[in-house]
Formats: sequence, C-alpha cells, structure tokens
Amino acid sequence: MQKLAPYSAHSEHSKGRQYAEGSPSYRSEFQRDRDRIIHSAAFRRLEYKTQVFVNHEGDLFRTRLTHSIEVAQIARSIARELDFNEDLTEAISLAHDLGHTPFGHSGQDALNACMKDYGGFEHNLQSLRVVDQLEQKYAEFPGINLTYETREGILKHCSKKNAIELGEIGQRFIEGRQPGLEAQLANLADSIAYNNHDVDDGLRCSLITVEQLRETRLFAMQCETVSKLYPQLEGRRMINETVRRMINHLVVDLIENSRARLLDSGVRDIEQVRDYAEPLLMHSDDVARDSLELKQFLRRNLYEHYRVLRMSKKAARVIREMFQAFMDDYRILPTQYHALSSEMAGDSESALARVIADYIAGMTDRFAITEYRRLFEPGELT
Ligand code: MG
Repeated sequence: MQKLAPYSAHSEHSKGRQYAEGSPSYRSEFQRDRDRIIHSAAFRRLEYKTQVFVNHEGDLFRTRLTHSIEVAQIARSIARELDFNEDLTEAISLAHDLGHTPFGHSGQDALNACMKDYGGFEHNLQSLRVVDQLEQKYAEFPGINLTYETREGILKHCSKKNAIELGEIGQRFIEGRQPGLEAQLANLADSIAYNNHDVDDGLRCSLITVEQLRETRLFAMQCETVSKLYPQLEGRRMINETVRRMINHLVVDLIENSRARLLDSGVRDIEQVRDYAEPLLMHSDDVARDSLELKQFLRRNLYEHYRVLRMSKKAARVIREMFQAFMDDYRILPTQYHALSSEMAGDSESALARVIADYIAGMTDRFAITEYRRLFEPGELT
C-alpha cells in the first residue's frame, strides 16, 4: 500500500460518484476510475488525435495518447515522491485530454466558433461530458460514473457561466477555491510534458533548430552541460540527452518547491488544500519564468510556423464546413444521432448543435478527413 500524506486524496474519503455503486473488491475507488478511463472508447481515440502535428505526418510524433501517457508518467513520479495519491493522479492524467477535438487547438477554436450561439465549446468541459454522459458502457448509468475527485481534476478550467450550470463540480470556479493536489499536479505535469515533447517533435521535423532553442534559458542551460560533459555528442543523442535533462530539471524543481510550500502552509487535509488562497503546487519563480519563456518561444517559432498554421487553417475549415453541413440538414448525420438530437432537448437548434459538436469532437484526425471527403467530394463513397 502506498503511504499517503494527510493532505492527499484518500480513496475511502472520496466524495463519491454521481450514481451510487458498491465499493470495488480488490481495487481502490481511484484505481477503478483509472481502469474505466483506459477501457473507454474516448481513450482509444486519443491514439489518432494530435496536438500540434496531424496524425499522418510521421510515426514518431506524439499523439494525444502518448502525450497522456507521458503526463501520467511525470505526474506519478512526483505523486509517489510527495506521498500524493498515485492512482488518482494517474486517472486524472490519462483522462485530461479526452474531450479534445481532432486537429489540436485549431480544431477546438473552430468548433468553439461554430458553437458561439449555442453555449460554446470548451475541451475541458467536453472531457467531463465524455466521462459523465457520452461514454455508453454501463446498463445502469450514462458515462463511466467517476468519483468526484477525478472529475474535479478533469475540469481544469471553466467559465463562471458554465460553472453555475454544472452544480457541485463547478462550485470551486464560483468560489475561487483550489482543486486537490493530485489535480494541481496533473495540470503541471501536462505543461512539463508538452513543452518538452514539442521541443523534441519540433526539432525532429526541422521546424525549429538547436541554434534557435539556445535563445531559451531552459534549453541553453542543459545543452551547455551536455556539451561540456560529452563534447563529441551530436545529433539525436545530443538532443535526447538535453531534453531528458530539461524534464528532470523541471520535475526536481516542482518536487522541491512544492514540498517546501506544503510544509510552510501547514495544511492538514484536502479541504484545507481546497481552501488555500493559491495553488500549493508550483515551480520556483526562476523555473516558472524559464518555462514561460520556453512556452512563448514554442508559440512564436513552432505553433505559429507557417507550415503549422497552414495545417491549422485547413483543419479549421474542415471542422467549420462539416458543422455547417450538418446544421443545414441533420439528416446527413449518421442515423444514431437523429434519435439523440430529438431525445436530448425536443429538437431545438441548440440541442442539435450540441449533438453535432459531440459528433465532431469525438472524431479522430483521420476520421474527420475521411468524413469531410464523404460529405464534399462527389467521387467519394458515402
Ligand atoms: Mg494535455
């Protein structure tokens, strides 16, 4: 059994599930959550969804699935060291991107614009919707009926307007409270993972160079150490040695800084963590500054690189045109969605828009491309 700090989430004190169920026999409540996430259809789809690059660009690039596994790896290491609940940390990490659209952020922005008059589209909220409603696995309830603590971690951000509609799980956004430590950790591990793997993937496809990256303190510092220790090292091994040291540097800083903050704060249980004025998990000021610098570097040089922008614009067009075609005539949606649209809210336009958003958000990159061709290319089979 893992030793748990008093301020971590304890399975036996969970706030429970939306639909009451008996306790699992040989697992904790959070292990059961983790297992349900892994067995969900939305989790399998992560393999064919991407953040920056489109899925077919190459077999070595991160997908949302490998990204989520890297987040879980980083978060679990830290959870074990700080005596947080490792099972809950893993569950949140593996579920954190379940609601993402195809084609990364451009897909989400495009779908949000399409949904402007119908309540908008937000991937965090969609992740919660996936586990609360959209998965269809159990006879007795919709969704996969996760514990409050896992759902709290999945809902990373939320507007006040949406928070009001969500009830208990949205309450903290209205009251300005914090989530538990495992949720805070999964969130930070997400940034550590994507900043570093985007450096790696960006170099792999030559959209950014080692010389450019030396402008950033995080990269320059580790790269310099590597050159001193191994002056002969070059190419992939030099990059890999540098990136692994960057991850390690960030992880060690997060552990040490957070440990000190937890001690200073005097918090004794998860409710005090939630009541604390600010998140207890944080990087030191220097490392937070350097991480932000790297993030801004990636935005300027990678996410806004003309080749990435072209792909993003194309992706946005695919989403927009599909959405519009389905809104114009919902009868071209697959049959199972017709029933759903009338069942959900008496055939109103917003309900239809939401059904379409769920359908599009659930698509993988390659399914979206195929569906787009089926809809718009005359020679394509439907
Ligand atoms: Mg993520």
